Amino acid sequence: MRFGTREQNCPFFIKKYRKTIKRSDSTMYDIIIIGAGVTGCSVARYLSRYQAKVCVVERADDVCCGTSKANSAIVHAGYDAAHGSLMAKMNVKGSQMMPALAKELDFPFQQNGSLVVCMHEDDMLYLKELYENGIKNGVKGLEIVGKERMRELEPNVSDDAVAALWAPTAGIVCPFTLTIALAENANTNGVDFKFNTEVTAVVRNGDHWTVQTNQGALDTNYVVNAAGLYADVFHNMVSAKKIHITPRRGDYFILDHATDGFVKHTVFQLPGKYGKGVLVAPTVHGNTIVGPTAVDIEDKEGTNTTLAGLDEVTAKADIAIQNIPLRQTITSFAGLRAHEDHHEFIIGEAEDAPHFIDCAGIESPGLSSSPAIGMTVADLLRDKMHLQPNPKFNGVRKGIIDPKTLSLQERAELIQKDPAYGQIVCRCESVTEGQILDAIHRPLGAKSIDGVKFRTRAGMGRCQAGFCTPRVIEILARELGVGQNEITKNGGASKLIVGNTKDRA
Ligand SMILES: Cc1cc2nc3c(=O)[nH]c(=O)nc-3n(C[C@H](O)[C@H](O)[C@H](O)COP(=O)(O)OP(=O)(O)OC[C@H]3O[C@@H](n4cnc5c(N)ncnc54)[C@H](O)[C@@H]3O)c2cc1C
Repeated sequence: MRFGTREQNCPFFIKKYRKTIKRSDSTMYDIIIIGAGVTGCSVARYLSRYQAKVCVVERADDVCCGTSKANSAIVHAGYDAAHGSLMAKMNVKGSQMMPALAKELDFPFQQNGSLVVCMHEDDMLYLKELYENGIKNGVKGLEIVGKERMRELEPNVSDDAVAALWAPTAGIVCPFTLTIALAENANTNGVDFKFNTEVTAVVRNGDHWTVQTNQGALDTNYVVNAAGLYADVFHNMVSAKKIHITPRRGDYFILDHATDGFVKHTVFQLPGKYGKGVLVAPTVHGNTIVGPTAVDIEDKEGTNTTLAGLDEVTAKADIAIQNIPLRQTITSFAGLRAHEDHHEFIIGEAEDAPHFIDCAGIESPGLSSSPAIGMTVADLLRDKMHLQPNPKFNGVRKGIIDPKTLSLQERAELIQKDPAYGQIVCRCESVTEGQILDAIHRPLGAKSIDGVKFRTRAGMGRCQAGFCTPRVIEILARELGVGQNEITKNGGASKLIVGNTKDRA
């Protein structure tokens, strides 16, 4: 095997980290997973069923800070990916695993079904192709429905729509809670997580890999590359067979709860060259999501929305669904798909780099596929490393109690036991102090304002954190034993409080 110099392998290493690498600890890991997105956390969770020393290394200060937090949150049925592709296999298996996983790990998931709406008789051929591809992929319950049934399912479907592909097994999920639940369960079952730890190089060191990070070097027998948009950088460091990932941006609108029920199913337009088109869907939390666009960019950090992108969403949104209440928009956001040049998942040991396992090119339907990817990679490593079952493995995780989901009597009992559940902190989403305390103190607990937000929804409502931010900062500072000026929005330098007004000269 041949390796380039550290500088050849990793150009950004030179600029940012050209200094002596310290060894952060002397532990030799069996497996290091780069990236705590849904892919890395799922691999970690399924690996925790076996006896192995596993560590997830993440550059951000929490799990779910990359693409996994910014997507449509659809569990695709699996009719779309090309028959025979790994993408199709992972999608169908992942979506079949999702309902049971949601029960086991207690995250919000609804099997609400999806419609792909065909607007012109001329395009019926493509709708039928999609149906046939889905049948070949093994998707159950697919049906092409005519105008009447389509409108019965979705009354706001456009008057011009001619037919739709109905997929009853499609679903919607909370992508944050899915990722957090996988990570928490992995951690409870023995997997280490290192945050604020940016991998700068992966180099072969005799009989093992050395993973160099901004916090020092870590040694490991196997590396799992689940670095999302950066998976090509790490793959190309160790393999002569280069891959290339393009960030493909998608812009969205999120509409207020007031639109709950506007659509009950995920409504897609018939897919085009750049993907599944603009969709309109309910979220598991009662909002409506509208988007995304699909624009190739160069900047792997370019998660900003653009006026052009949002204008495009507005222009295309009502092709399949009419009268969308876009005036109820409470926020917009953008996510970046990790589009690999061949539009295929790359999962498995790199041909010319033994013990380096790729999970690269995990673009949509990566969220839907995540349980299947996690299980596939864990099983691959079990077989290669002869891993034995973890006798202490407990696959069940309880989520944060949401008093809104309890009866009045249960709620009263909960408040009696713990009065913090009677203190509303986020008025828009009715999030209580009890939920925030649980979010902070559970395994891999929240350390930042976004950490609280993604675990409890405090700040995700109509006022977009205008009212609850000061209270959340206060609670975080008190519980973590630090000053309020130490609390960040999402780690790093993202501090909100820079000083006391009275200190100003
Ligand atoms: C617009 C859009 C819509 C989508 N819609 C859907 C959908 O409806 N359904 C669906 O199934 N899928 C959807 N997807 C795809 C899905 O979101 C992704 O496939 C999935 O989230 C990828 O997860 P990941 O863990 O591979 O990547 P990520 O979530 O990006 O995680 C990678 C992690 O690696 C970390 N990392 C990167 N570099 C380093 C480093 N040097 N050191 C340490 N850590 C590092 C990052 O910080 C990040 O946390 C969509 C994607 C987009 C963008």
